[in-house]
Amino acid sequence: MIVVLKQNAPQEKQKQLVSWLEKMGLGVHVFTGEFQTVVGLIGDTSHVDAELISSMEIVQSVQRISDGFKCCSRRFHPDDSRIEAGGAAIGAGAFGIIAGPCSVESEEQIVAIAQKVKQAGATMLRGGAFKPRTSPYDFQGLRADGLKLLRIARRETGLPIVTELMSEHDLDLFEDVDLIQVGARNMQNYELLKALGKTQKPILLKRGLCSTLRELLLSAEYIMAGGNENVILCERGIRTYSDYTRNTLDLSAIPVLKELSHLPVIVDPSHATGHSRLVPSMALAAAAAGCDGLIIEVHNDPEHALCDGAQSIRPEEFAPLVKKVSAVRAALMEN
Ligand code: PEP
Ligand code: MN
Repeated sequence: MIVVLKQNAPQEKQKQLVSWLEKMGLGVHVFTGEFQTVVGLIGDTSHVDAELISSMEIVQSVQRISDGFKCCSRRFHPDDSRIEAGGAAIGAGAFGIIAGPCSVESEEQIVAIAQKVKQAGATMLRGGAFKPRTSPYDFQGLRADGLKLLRIARRETGLPIVTELMSEHDLDLFEDVDLIQVGARNMQNYELLKALGKTQKPILLKRGLCSTLRELLLSAEYIMAGGNENVILCERGIRTYSDYTRNTLDLSAIPVLKELSHLPVIVDPSHATGHSRLVPSMALAAAAAGCDGLIIEVHNDPEHALCDGAQSIRPEEFAPLVKKVSAVRAALMEN
């Protein structure tokens, strides 16, 4: 249920309303925007008398909402959210460009790529240390050693680091990771989501391979309901009937998610297409559709990459792409 307050509702009356609602055992989330104050009620509101609340002097309207997601809903929080991670920002006008290899392979590899993507305009460095591989015989990542190498690359370049956490049991190792990725395969790992909800770490939540947008938002809700509001959503392609691409990039997810939620939405054109030659066009299309950022796999030697070489672009391809993305964004802002 959401309660929209009248403009200039006196602070004292607002406080009285909030404490009255809290006494009913409800979670109360107050959003104070530039034009509107919205009070969101979390929990079982079936016993709440909406008519009684509507009749209050400071209340403009009361709406029952049945979407199931609340904290991430734009109805609870009409303005766009901006998530800060290690000095970089994504959302509410801040465009994030996360770039780097699929996996961290060596110090030389991650530092060299970090320097190149930074020079080209990346705002964060990606690199998997714990890798969710389809086959147990494939490279599983350097794990804790990979995290150490990411820290070295951060120290060398100043770029905040983004890396995937697969199990809540490894959470302690991720204490100084700037943005924790929850991968597509773990989008519905509810114990992991609940554990992340108890932290204040910024989370990059990727859409599951076969997940609907509602399921994605409900997964974000798991994290936010625990008290962690620092969530970024990521469209990374879904399974359809595609035969020439790894997945199908659902571009309409961008405007739909932004309509439903205040959370930033970024796009991963690398996993969406599976082919490096398709990455630039899909990155530009995503920027044109209004996303808040991109996560792109960049490798200095894709032929010898230990993971996802076929979809990794080279730094020489990444640099002109960043310029074109800026041009698309500038064109959007002109109108
Ligand atoms: C990745 O980012 O390397 C990755 C494994 O992504 P996803 O979970 O989207 O497949
Ligand atoms: Mn990958």
